[in-house]
Amino acid sequence: MEANREEFIELINNVKFIEKTYDVMRVVDPIKKKILSYTENVITETDFICHHVWNKEKICDNCISLKAYKENDVFIKIEYHKEMIYMVIAIPVAIGETTVVIELFKDVSKNMTVVKKDKGVEVDIHRIIDHVDKLLLKDHLTGIYNRRFIDERLQVDIINKSIRKETLSVIMADIDLFKSVNDNYGHLAGDFILKEVANLLVSCVRTDRDWVARYGGEEFLICLPTANKDKAFEIAERMRKKIQNEIFEFEGSNIKVTTSFGVHTLVQNDESTIESIINFADVNLYKAKKSGRNMTISS
Ligand code: GH3
Ligand code: MG
Ligand code: MG
Repeated sequence: MEANREEFIELINNVKFIEKTYDVMRVVDPIKKKILSYTENVITETDFICHHVWNKEKICDNCISLKAYKENDVFIKIEYHKEMIYMVIAIPVAIGETTVVIELFKDVSKNMTVVKKDKGVEVDIHRIIDHVDKLLLKDHLTGIYNRRFIDERLQVDIINKSIRKETLSVIMADIDLFKSVNDNYGHLAGDFILKEVANLLVSCVRTDRDWVARYGGEEFLICLPTANKDKAFEIAERMRKKIQNEIFEFEGSNIKVTTSFGVHTLVQNDESTIESIINFADVNLYKAKKSGRNMTISS
């Protein structure tokens, strides 16, 4: 990443006038998750990872710098950490050919009051933050990540995979003949099974870098950063068998379902896009359906 000195100094000077609104300012590359520094006329990447500020090994689920970068707009979040409340503002700024994000941090633990409009009483900010995060990122029926999370996060994991020269696998899972579950046992039974299947899928992933999301309807997407083809196939099979062996008890009925899986793995130098990796996994899922369902096909 290169940018000239004048542009960077101008940038810093421009944010100085709002000095009192923040305690700490930093510049990040939201895709690589690296903090940037300015030395000898160029902006260079440091080895500092932006989410380490929260003592998190995991990329923040609610990363606003990525949103600011992708939507070219300012995003604000309230984050609480160790009994303190921070306001974070992410501002996308173009420097030369690249766009970086300026993050402003303000400790608002003492400055912030939340008042409920109707009754004029203070409400618990921690609960509000949890609630908002959940609304934005989680699927309300199953409690796992939602489609919006997939759209934001898969891109980051694919880019990280390229940078770290790792493999990455994606699994698409679709419950077999689910319409007949609804037809035979009712929509509520269907909802119950969707939640249970989501839990079973989550129980099969390993590291805190793996994630499971509801892609839509009775379809799920599982992302396994670092997993190679064999590992991803093994995990999909573990999921498939677990669901196949489960008896779902709902209002006196014992219901069984099976699931089909399509797996696609990106090898080290594969520069596929988010669309193509999902498409490849989908093609394999379609093959699994065509070949009789309740099976895993990988590529
Ligand atoms: P296939 O094996 O080919 O996937 O067959 P299928 O019946 O699962 O596929 P189809 O696409 O025909 O039907 C999907 C069904 O999933 C229909 C829809 O009612 C049900 N479904 C989707 N979302 C929900 C939901 O949130 N709750 C319930 N109960 N059912 C849902
Ligand atoms: Mg489907
Ligand atoms: Mg289905």
